Amino acid sequence: MYSPESHPALRAEAVVDLGAIRHNVATLRAVAGSAQLMTVVKADAYGHGLLPVARAAREAGADWIGAAVIEEALALRAGGDTGRIFCWLTAPGEDLTGAVAAGIDLSASAPWGIDELSAAARATGTTARVHLKIDTGMSRAGATPDEWPELVRIARAAEATGLIEIAGIWSHLALADDPKNPVNDQQLEVFQAAVDDAAALGVRPPFRHIANSGGTLRLPASHFDLVRPGVATYGLSPFGRAITPTELGLRPAMTLRARLSVVKRVSAGTGISYGHTYVTTAPTTIGLLPLGYGDGIPRHASGAGPVWVAGERRTLVGRVCMDQSLIDLGDDDVQPGAEVVLFGPGDRGEPTVDDWADAAGTINYEIVTRLGARVPRTYVDPARTEGVTG
Ligand SMILES: *Cc1c(COP(=O)(O)O)cnc(C)c1O
Repeated sequence: MYSPESHPALRAEAVVDLGAIRHNVATLRAVAGSAQLMTVVKADAYGHGLLPVARAAREAGADWIGAAVIEEALALRAGGDTGRIFCWLTAPGEDLTGAVAAGIDLSASAPWGIDELSAAARATGTTARVHLKIDTGMSRAGATPDEWPELVRIARAAEATGLIEIAGIWSHLALADDPKNPVNDQQLEVFQAAVDDAAALGVRPPFRHIANSGGTLRLPASHFDLVRPGVATYGLSPFGRAITPTELGLRPAMTLRARLSVVKRVSAGTGISYGHTYVTTAPTTIGLLPLGYGDGIPRHASGAGPVWVAGERRTLVGRVCMDQSLIDLGDDDVQPGAEVVLFGPGDRGEPTVDDWADAAGTINYEIVTRLGARVPRTYVDPARTEGVTG
């Protein structure tokens, strides 16, 4: 388990509990029932670290790993992942040969996507596995229902040449964070119609998938053959404040902490940080947190971001700078080097990722994903040795 003493020498770190990741993946695995489970690790596993998270997910039963872009998928292969990997975001003209040769499942939303995959398959002497995407109402990628039959026909023709294998039909939910919203049912209807149309054209791939975390946890009708949860893997709720991680059986995996690099006494009337947006009203103690927007601390959380110091909740004061932020510690006896927890599971009274999302006017997803490369990720694994650095 995480303990404040685990890495006492660091300035700042994001401690990722791999036991929590495995617990969350196992929870999602159970919720998925007979559907397969794809753990989504895009954007450096939502800031938690691509390879350690993917390994933990495989150990806990992830059948697939999901990545947004080819660089992520190839990094997984280079890291030794030999399992099924799906990657869905490419641009026209992008080199697909590496991904096809590495056996990555890719997506196509339009005939040009099938053409490019066929060309990559020809160039590498392999078959490209493709999942055909239908836009069921997100209006992001995917063929519209009007374009769908044409995409299916072209993919089927490419499959007949042996260059393409149609492995899936898939889509994405726009309102799964609001499971009772009728748009979810509408999307599922459009999806089912696309599946039926494809079947009528002779295309019946083994993997039909549309569920993200919200769908996996609260819309069983969206499970089909495979579910693709991302944020829940990290112990964060896809439902915002409406349903807590605890209620979902999830454990937040990341604790962001740092050590005060300067502590000083200032008099009343002292202006703090750029613009002097905060001026002390009494003699007080100011602590310097060595993290700023260059590390992913939202500048929008200036004067609002919650922190936990010496067993008490405090709020950032003055503007968040690029590398540093400030805390008014009042008359507390706090020494330089003292631990500051920005967020964690909340068990000890520390703020949570959702508290930071509220303070910055954003969602929990963004708070963890935006953490910068300058913050080392360290790993604790209760089932193994403590304090593995990765
Ligand atoms: C991000 C993403 C997911 C996971 O979404 P969560 O809300 O984090 O569960 C699944 N599928 C696709 C296509 C995505 O882009």
